[in-house]
Amino acid sequence: MGIIEIKKKLTKEEISCEDLLNGYLQRIKKFEKGEKKINAVITLNEEEAHKKAAEVDAKIKKGEQLGLLEGIPIAVKDVICTKGLRTTAASKILDNFIPTYDATAVEKLKQAGAIILAKTNCDEFAHGASGENSAYGFTRNPYDLARVPGGSSSGSGAIVAYGGAAAALGTDTGGSTRVPAGFLGLVGLKPSYGRVSRRGLIAMSSSIDTIAPITENVGDAAIMLSVISGKDPQDSTTAGFSGKDFTVDFKKGLQGLKIAYPKEALAKGLDEKVKAIFWEDIKKLKESGAEVEEISLPLFGESALAVYYIIVSSEISSNLARFDGIRYGVAENGTKNLEDFYKKTRTKNLGQETKRRIILGNFSLSAGYFDAYYNKAQKVRRLIREEAQKAFSKFDLIVTPTTATPPFKIGAKADPLAMYLVDIYSVYANLAGICAISVNGGWIKNEEKADSIFSGKKKRLPVGFQMMAKQWDEEALLGAALNFEKAINLAESAE
Ligand code: GLN
Repeated sequence: MGIIEIKKKLTKEEISCEDLLNGYLQRIKKFEKGEKKINAVITLNEEEAHKKAAEVDAKIKKGEQLGLLEGIPIAVKDVICTKGLRTTAASKILDNFIPTYDATAVEKLKQAGAIILAKTNCDEFAHGASGENSAYGFTRNPYDLARVPGGSSSGSGAIVAYGGAAAALGTDTGGSTRVPAGFLGLVGLKPSYGRVSRRGLIAMSSSIDTIAPITENVGDAAIMLSVISGKDPQDSTTAGFSGKDFTVDFKKGLQGLKIAYPKEALAKGLDEKVKAIFWEDIKKLKESGAEVEEISLPLFGESALAVYYIIVSSEISSNLARFDGIRYGVAENGTKNLEDFYKKTRTKNLGQETKRRIILGNFSLSAGYFDAYYNKAQKVRRLIREEAQKAFSKFDLIVTPTTATPPFKIGAKADPLAMYLVDIYSVYANLAGICAISVNGGWIKNEEKADSIFSGKKKRLPVGFQMMAKQWDEEALLGAALNFEKAINLAESAE
């Protein structure tokens, strides 16, 4: 049940907030136990959630005005600070970290009446594309328990997919909400850089990070964005006013929209079944009156990916310096001197992928290599922005598959480079600073006998469809996505 549906039920008093919450908690308890647990949750905020639910019920009884998210159970990725509630970034080094303040986005959720129900599992410090890099174990895909749910917002996606939260906050630095949304049949919205405050987000790559919602449908994504967006005096990179309503522009159909797909996205490496779904989606767009054209974006794909990993690891190496056991992080005892202390603390408590990125970043920022790697990557990043701007001067939207493959098996991508390739279609939007969304583009048959929490028709695997629009054009993006979603749902129900 999505946000819009729950709101109706609560306001019509068809269900109490306490009963609603109990339903969510029951599902969490069911799917978060045993050997094959989904493992979407790191910390459950049960007691606080009950308190808040009682408050909401009292408010409803008194006929008081309800906030936009009043009584809605929401999960928050564990890289986002929550006051008084453990926030680990899925790293051992922050195992006992309890923030003293809420991230602005969380503050805004609370102001809108949301219930913060759980802190969700993710790749350590959001470094990853599958959810396998967490110090708290990997997350499973509810559609096929042997497969990944996509990352790095793996738990935020999985918990919404199995009905343990109505919506979730994730983060998207290179695709981390769009990839899980694609692998889980959900909606992942990456807002324009600067649309949502990053204050209180444990930084990965400050010039690229975005806080981003994962929801069941596009309408819910618009509500979430309306709540969390806006200028924050405590994050100077933000713009736009708070309380902007992103749910208003939905009447516009797809008629006359100018849509392009880059031919580079259809090159080698794209799974045949994913490609077939993509063509069906293009057909639906055309049938709905959009004009669709092939274009060339030479920097889309491999170039963007190379630039992304250089910039991201450089910023990671600097941002993660604070996790040293003194400023932040658990401290190792019994060390000989300061250097030994740093070494032991970071060696023992940071995971392999995080260490790899710190080392890569230190390398590309070091004297002698700075110009060859970091500086060059920044120059190409500028070219990517320009290339995107040029494309958006002619087109309203650029579309691609969200990923090149359907959800893959847990453990299948042990080679880090193979894992980096998962983001081949998603990082472009982050580097260009534009907004993007992944909506469900269709389903493929799961050829293997899967162990799934869903029965019947749901024993299929979802395939994501990505739409990108220019910076600050979320309204157009959400409007188009909503109409696309309608077209897909119509086709589904006619099946
Ligand atoms: N998978 C990408 C990475 O590992 C994206 C991560 C993200 O968006 N947080 O860098």
